[in-house]
Amino acid sequence: MVPGPRYVQRMPRLARPAPDTRSARTRMVMRQLAGRGIRDQRVLAAMRWVPREWFLPPHLAGDAYNDAPLPIGSGQTISQPYVVALMTEQLAPRRTHRILEIGTGSGYQTAILAYLAARGKVFTIERLPDLLVEAEERFRRLGLENIETRLGDGAGGWPEEAPFDGIIVAAAAPRIPEPLTAQLAPGGRLVIPIGDLASQELVILERSERGELVQRQAGGVRFVPLISRLAFTEQSPP
Ligand code: SAH
Repeated sequence: MVPGPRYVQRMPRLARPAPDTRSARTRMVMRQLAGRGIRDQRVLAAMRWVPREWFLPPHLAGDAYNDAPLPIGSGQTISQPYVVALMTEQLAPRRTHRILEIGTGSGYQTAILAYLAARGKVFTIERLPDLLVEAEERFRRLGLENIETRLGDGAGGWPEEAPFDGIIVAAAAPRIPEPLTAQLAPGGRLVIPIGDLASQELVILERSERGELVQRQAGGVRFVPLISRLAFTEQSPP
């Protein structure tokens, strides 16, 4: 064995998954993300790392790098890559951040966040057990160990683990659920699609270091509804 330099490894190194589709990911990142104004190099690197086909039903794997949301079962969808990148850029997760995600779905967005907050943690809540079980299996396959999952209504947040440096909601709500605002740390950001069932505006709520709340908007989006006493009911008309 050749003696090499000695160094302390602070983070477990993640292997590069799915090398066979890496060029498709690079193309997706250049055309759909960088080409449309996503600038954050860490976000682009994360989108190049996560194989989206691992988050899809097998028969849709060939569509993984299409510029579109896709069905993942139980009437839910995996978000369009551009929307995942946009929301992640707006959230601005740092390596040590503690992040709360509502609506795990396929777990694709979760994996992107866990890669970026490598020395922090991602807490993710999903209300449908079948989807959560599948997502957990994908996190194991990717070697992502900084994710905690919970089954239930995420609109109430995760009070035991609050406050969070970032909160991201992957489902549409008519207004910001109050518990989520309450669980936002100073300097933290909340990213959530707000509107009706047909269309929403991506809202970014930021709590300053002094505690003031500032809100802005980042464009139109379309998400499945957040089903909760604090948002939409399952019987809401389309
Ligand atoms: N970013 C995800 C998108 C998931 S779609 C992806 O790319 O795969 C939104 C998810 O939110 C669905 O899985 C839905 O079941 C879930 N959801 C809806 N209301 C919820 C609630 N109140 N609490 C937790 N999850 C909820």
